Amino acid sequence: MSKKQKKMLVRIITAAVILIALYFIPVTGILRFALYLIPYFIIGYDILLKAAKGIKNRQIFDENFLMAVATIGAIALAVYDQSGDYTEAIAVMLFYQVGEWFQSYAVGKSRRNISDLMDIRPDYANIERDGKLEKVDPDEVEIGSVIVVQPGEKIPIDGVVMEGVSSLNTSALTGESLPRDVKDGDEIISGCINMTGVLKIRTTKEFGESTVSKILDLVENASSRKSKSEDFISKFARIYTPAVCIAALALAILPPLVRMIVLGLTAQWHVWIYRALTFLVISCPCALVISIPLSFFAGIGGASKAGVLVKGSNYLETLSQTKIVVFDKTGTLTQGVFEVNGIHHNELENEKLVEYAALAESASSHPISKSLQRAYGKPLDRSRVTDIQEISGNGVIAKVDGVEVAAGNDKLMNRLGISYIPCHSVGTIIHMAIRGQYAGHIVISDVIKPRAQEAIHALKEAGVKKTVMLTGDTRKVADQVAKTLGLDEVYSELLPAGKVEKVETLLKQKPEKEKLAFVGDGINDAPVLSRADIGIAMGAMGSDAAIEAADVVLMDDDPMKISKAIRISRKCLRIVYQNIVFAIGIKLICLALGAFGIANMWVAIFADVGVMILAVLNAIRALFVKNL
Ligand code: ADP
Ligand code: MG
Repeated sequence: MSKKQKKMLVRIITAAVILIALYFIPVTGILRFALYLIPYFIIGYDILLKAAKGIKNRQIFDENFLMAVATIGAIALAVYDQSGDYTEAIAVMLFYQVGEWFQSYAVGKSRRNISDLMDIRPDYANIERDGKLEKVDPDEVEIGSVIVVQPGEKIPIDGVVMEGVSSLNTSALTGESLPRDVKDGDEIISGCINMTGVLKIRTTKEFGESTVSKILDLVENASSRKSKSEDFISKFARIYTPAVCIAALALAILPPLVRMIVLGLTAQWHVWIYRALTFLVISCPCALVISIPLSFFAGIGGASKAGVLVKGSNYLETLSQTKIVVFDKTGTLTQGVFEVNGIHHNELENEKLVEYAALAESASSHPISKSLQRAYGKPLDRSRVTDIQEISGNGVIAKVDGVEVAAGNDKLMNRLGISYIPCHSVGTIIHMAIRGQYAGHIVISDVIKPRAQEAIHALKEAGVKKTVMLTGDTRKVADQVAKTLGLDEVYSELLPAGKVEKVETLLKQKPEKEKLAFVGDGINDAPVLSRADIGIAMGAMGSDAAIEAADVVLMDDDPMKISKAIRISRKCLRIVYQNIVFAIGIKLICLALGAFGIANMWVAIFADVGVMILAVLNAIRALFVKNL
């Protein structure tokens, strides 16, 4: 509980005690009035001040104004009637404050929850100096420095393990509870917790560019992107409150006038003024105004706990309407870790061909190039490579030891005007040309991710109508993968621009209300990620481009998370709609009852606070996504 909340609680209790005590003290007249003003001001002074400020700033219509007018009006009526019944007005203020208190408590609590569960910010990095460990600000560590992470500490900066073996707890990032084993040579990302061994890590990024910083940025900015429902609510509140005030005024004036002039009856002013005041109390829109953003907030928090980062409530909303999911192949449905299956060549030896390929690819971040470098297995002397040119969706051209080397698919060979020998093996073929002469090809093949098939199935179960795969790879490979996974459509041999075109066609074909999600790893598909209704990036474990371009980031490469993300968003939106319908529904009923004099102020305030508490509790449900 914050200090402010504690203070409020004291005020609530004090006012309540005084109010109960006054009930037993039989005083009348002006003394009674004065005594009752004490609890009224204790509990309501800030509301009265805020209402006065609102009037001064010409932003009159807010709930402070509604409460101030309603309670002052009720007290005035009691004075006028000489009934001395001030309890009601004070109780209304009291319960209103109880509601406010509960709301700030709930919001504070869930906010804290979310930052707790995103508790990945490292406080320091250890640097070894003269055989001693020194704690420094992660911001000060330069790229290429060596940091030491002890068991129990967070990895502060992205890097590569130089020394040591350990297991990492990645659950704060990925929602995955299985530890991940690392050894020297492995890339690791910041935000994980080192569990068992001491690790020496050579940093590959600055702190500001590391995964932790990126994710924290994302989470902190998520609530600033508003969804349509939130927009609707703030517009609604802007029109609603003034409308209610006008209606209340009409309720206070018109019926008495009609009674007097038309029906020739007594006016009954105080009856109608009382009903109008009740009307004002009922109409406070607090439940809606607070519970909708809170639901989204909880939904985003719940998602990040499950390893799904959603960049804003608007994306959560779009995600819930996803009916078509388009996948990139390499790194998304497949592991992006290619094994060399065969090497067919003219005169060079196997090893020489792979060496040239690995060197030419040394600057590329494509999974293919990484795999070729791994297949070569020896350290690469990058100074042997110059004039590197990567043609996306084709391959690379570079000079190795001053000799022109081209490595890529048949598109690249056609582009260079080199005749090549087609290969009959199923696999991704890397044709090689050296000095403009065809030198042979390397057949590599990728493995489908273990849970990819299950993931496609889960999407269908989650109500996705169509699954599509786009790839720059050859038709044979693409068809095989699509068939194994049970995808509905597949388009192969696409250049990055072709992927954008394909997605645009798909976007045109579908009805506006059904949304299209594109899932990719950010390599050769960043433009598609931003073009789709919603871009989902696989593997925040690597590609920065993906995190930038995507709307939703899956913290591990598990394709199962796509359907999970959709389910989380659906649950959240369901809660949002429940709250909208529930809150507006109860309000309308109470307003009607109030206008006919069936509901008095007591009923009104209980309805208001009750609805708010239920709506807030309902909103918090969005945080729980474990079993979705
Ligand atoms: P995907 O759509 O499967 O992710 P890409 O669009 O990234 O594939 O690449 C399509 C094809 O382009 C690859 O299958 C490969 O033949 C070729 N290619 C792309 N980049 C490279 C590279 N760095 N080295 C060799 N070939 C490449
Ligand atoms: Mg790709």
